[in-house]
Formats: sequence, structure tokens, C-alpha cells
Amino acid sequence: MQLKIDLHVHTCYSNDSLITPEELVFYARKHGLDAVAVTDHDRIDGALKIAKETDFPIIPGIEVSSLNGHVVGLNLQEPIPKKLNVSETVDKIHEKGGLAVACHPVAFMKGSVGRNANARFDAVEVINASAIPFGYSVKYGEKIASTLGISRVAGSDAHYGPEIGCAYTLVDAGLQVEEIIKALSKGLCQPFGKAIPLATRLKREFLVFERKFSLRDQKRRGI
Ligand SMILES: [Zn+2]
Ligand SMILES: [Zn+2]
Repeated sequence: MQLKIDLHVHTCYSNDSLITPEELVFYARKHGLDAVAVTDHDRIDGALKIAKETDFPIIPGIEVSSLNGHVVGLNLQEPIPKKLNVSETVDKIHEKGGLAVACHPVAFMKGSVGRNANARFDAVEVINASAIPFGYSVKYGEKIASTLGISRVAGSDAHYGPEIGCAYTLVDAGLQVEEIIKALSKGLCQPFGKAIPLATRLKREFLVFERKFSLRDQKRRGI
């Protein structure tokens, strides 16, 4: 079976994302996905809760802020500590039975692992729909994946519902999380996708700004 999966999505459990659990499932279905990986910044409680409460297939994951840049861990049941070096972070993910992905290895303003991507990773996120500049990041992501000889995957890095599925990975597997993870580690997958359209990006920036402003206003008024 060929599955269409967005392997990098942030929900409102990440402070910088607008996506509620309901929106996550709504847009994933709307955009024809078979599963999504929830990869909030340095926490996994939201991903585990959503996976339990919805019948839509969710891969619980985390995006860890290592000392050398962001690392995505997929198929985990507990958080991975932040501020370890990149190799320690990858080892911890493996110890817990997870798959380590060098996410957006080359992108500006994203805390990327860059030259610290190494063959201990299981996969490189060759396409990250929110990476800037997009073409440059895909080109160098491809280069890193082929140099290391590891799997190539894609994800949207969505922080706003309509961005979900802008990039996705086609995976040859059954729908069980364990089967998906095994297929990803064997390279039975292919990255696809495009950059998030500028209008969508601007809308998201506006909504994030608006939310910050209204939270500050509520605080000021003691609500
Ligand atoms: Zn990141
Ligand atoms: Zn991310």
C-alpha cells in the first residue's frame, strides 16, 4: 500500500503553532493524507494525547532542540531531552525505539543541523515546505542524503492548518505505525511537495501576530 504522510506538523502544543487537534485531522483529511506525524517542539504530550483521542492515524514524534540544531524523532512514547549534542540526541531517539530525522538540514532561521548531519541519522528531510530559501534547501538536502546514503523524506513543518500536506512522503507500508517506521528506515519512501505559498505564509504570520496581541491584551485587562 502506498501511503501519503506529512512527517512534520506542529500543533498548538508548540507555542508557535495555531493548529488545534480538530484542525489537524480536518486538513489532513482534506489534503488526502493517510497519516501525519505530530512533532511539537521539545514536547510529546500533545502528540500522544491526539493519537489516543482520534481515529486518524497519528505518528507520535517530537522536534528536539539539540545543541547543534533541530532533530525530529518519530515513533516515540516519551520526550527526548533538549540541549544535548546532535549525536547524543540521535542515540537517545534510537534508545527509545524511534527514528531520527535530520529535519530542514539547510535552511535559514530554523536552527538547522547543517554539517552535523551524519550517518547515524535514519533519514534526511530533503523537502521541508516552510524552509527558506526553498530551492536551495531542497538541493542541499538531496546532497546530504545522497552523501550519507540514508532515506529521503518530506514534511510541511506546518504551523497553520492550510499548510498541512504542502510536502509529504509516499511510503510503501501498511497503516500501522511500526510498519511505516520500518519502511522509512529501509528507504521504501519518496519525498514530494512544494513551498508553502506566500499568501498562506503571510496569513499565518498575521494570525500569529493577532493571537499574540489579543493574549497580551487579555493579560493587561486581567482576564
Ligand atoms: Zn525546526
Ligand atoms: Zn518544525
